[in-house]
Amino acid sequence: MNFMNVPPFSLNRQLSHIGDELEEAISRVIHSGKYIGGQEIDEFEEAFSRFVGVPYTVGCNSGTDALILALRALEIGAGDEVITCSFSFFATAEAISSVGAIPVFVEIDRKNYLIDIEKIEKAITPSTKAILPVHLFGCPVDMDQIMNLASKYNLKVIEDCAQAAGAKWNGNSVGSYGDIGCFSFFPTKNLGAAGDGGAVTTKHKALASQMRELSVHGMPERYLHTNLGYNSRLDAIQAAILNIKLPYLNKWVGERAKASSNYLEALKGLNDIILPKINLAHGSEHGWNQFVIRIKNFSTKEEDKYVDDNKLQCKNSRDIFKQRLEDYGIKTIIYYPIPIHLQPAYIHMGFQKGDMPLTESLSDEVLSLPLFPEITSDEQEYVAKKIISLAKSKT
Ligand SMILES: *Cc1c(COP(=O)(O)O)cnc(C)c1O
Repeated sequence: MNFMNVPPFSLNRQLSHIGDELEEAISRVIHSGKYIGGQEIDEFEEAFSRFVGVPYTVGCNSGTDALILALRALEIGAGDEVITCSFSFFATAEAISSVGAIPVFVEIDRKNYLIDIEKIEKAITPSTKAILPVHLFGCPVDMDQIMNLASKYNLKVIEDCAQAAGAKWNGNSVGSYGDIGCFSFFPTKNLGAAGDGGAVTTKHKALASQMRELSVHGMPERYLHTNLGYNSRLDAIQAAILNIKLPYLNKWVGERAKASSNYLEALKGLNDIILPKINLAHGSEHGWNQFVIRIKNFSTKEEDKYVDDNKLQCKNSRDIFKQRLEDYGIKTIIYYPIPIHLQPAYIHMGFQKGDMPLTESLSDEVLSLPLFPEITSDEQEYVAKKIISLAKSKT
């Protein structure tokens, strides 16, 4: 097969079928003169509530802000502990810390890379206020077990659904189980805006109005401020774009799932390449934001271990494998190379290498293959062929 360039994701390819609709929507907003609030926002919030299966959605500025609004609405703050995991995007813990609370990291489950539910109970203390599970890579956490634990210990539940729009647990959308679901519309998420955007979803009317007020300077009525809040709204242009895209979301997630099953089929049985496991219970659906493989023991050659001319930086097997794929024109991404507990920003928490062995080894091994709804079977075949030839040429 000839050389191909395969991007990790592509937003341009959507434009061939929805580009005109998007331009029309943007132009409609520009001509309406209504840029903050208004009909596009109301329509989107209503449609997204229907999609998730909850009565209330409040749009906001980002997935990170969604988490912050959720924590604040649940009155989680200084000294409170929130149980989550270290194998996630930084914002999960950053949001907890930014309201003054303490992220308590629980190890992940070797099977699915999600929070290890069996280890949550041991992490609960009198200061624990909430569990914040992350549906990482689009894979739904077992929300029945999480909700059982939460009711047993009287804890709140905030779902980080940033990577999982379109995913389901046991027949229901993620974001409909916990007290609050937090979504991101960052462009590379399953439902992406043309910029930043986010939303919170909830069954509880009081929480919804609390989050709405917090998102507008803690202001329940004009120029009356009952809380210190934020300026975090979803703006009208982003809402208009999301209104065009939302009806395609299920189709796109289906195409991601199809592409993922192609990879699973093409890559099975390779030594040292671990594929994602997808034994989801009946009624559950993976959102497939990422197709993540793990590379173990790829190269032991001394000269491979160093970044070309810079002999200072030692590379692991996964990094070498990633470089080889890049030489073939295949771009992959590492989500995430440094676990949150070892980030410099959390140095004050006193964690050390070895504190979360599973999370740390995953950070060294994971690699996200090119995945997006419009990826072609030729591209996938090319990626699979190159991975197979690399795996077999292992040194
Ligand atoms: C993207 C992401 C966020 C933050 O969303 P933004 O819209 O970028 O602020 C939070 N948590 C997870 C797991 C994410 O992937």
